[in-house]
Amino acid sequence: LPELPEVETIRRDLEIALVGRDILGVEVFFAGSVACPSSEIFATGLVGRRFTGAGRRGKYLLLYLDDHSVLVVHLRMTGRLLLFTEKPCLDKHSHLLFKLSGQATLLYHDVRKFGRFWWLPAQQLEQIKGLAALGPEPLSPAFHFPYLDREAEKRTVTVKALLLDQTFLAGLGNIYTDEILFACGILPGRSARSLSRTERRALFDAIRHVLQEALAWRGTTLSDYRDASGETGLFQNRLNVYGRHKQECPRCSQAVCRSVVAGRGTHYCSHCQH
Ligand SMILES: [Zn+2]
Repeated sequence: LPELPEVETIRRDLEIALVGRDILGVEVFFAGSVACPSSEIFATGLVGRRFTGAGRRGKYLLLYLDDHSVLVVHLRMTGRLLLFTEKPCLDKHSHLLFKLSGQATLLYHDVRKFGRFWWLPAQQLEQIKGLAALGPEPLSPAFHFPYLDREAEKRTVTVKALLLDQTFLAGLGNIYTDEILFACGILPGRSARSLSRTERRALFDAIRHVLQEALAWRGTTLSDYRDASGETGLFQNRLNVYGRHKQECPRCSQAVCRSVVAGRGTHYCSHCQH
């Protein structure tokens, strides 16, 4: 499911494709995809609005409109936002359709139907609880080593659980936490508090490095993720441990291990990580 690098890749594509386009019509095929307002108000009220920008917080996409309102999207597991400049092919998983100026169409496609849209005035974004509670962005100056050091000291949870906690840090999920912990040589089941200062420093650097690499490769596609053009990411070819149970560790050639940590299937090398 999409994590920070995938959502950021979609954001960058949509910013280029959407800004300046007007919404000419909205069709709601599955009302459950709209969390607020009602699907009727959503479908009628958005008509005539123009996209002015695209932002992101954690795994939330923020599409800014010309009346200071924001269309917020969380793709959850299988949501895809696809931009077409020709007539799109709809299927039973097509839940929302936005007809745009310049013959374009923005289609929301979601097999599992867990993704959600909110349309709110910009000053009311904190009504979305998950958005309001997010910790700092890992690639922003708000995330710095003293913050990680202080939070790690306070927490009794495993380091994997800490990284997955969106109130600690926004945007990480199961794939990148495993890759980050491999990159800095720390076992996912260690308690966050047990990390030495050197290990905390290595963790901090790995978080930023792995995310930047994944962004450069336009994210990871294991099954569902597609960018706004319907293309896969490329980082899946560069994963070291995630999804590679029993395959060779690229560093030491021992078999990659898998166990459950923080309630999630977790991949690591018992030789390279301590
Ligand atoms: Zn290894």
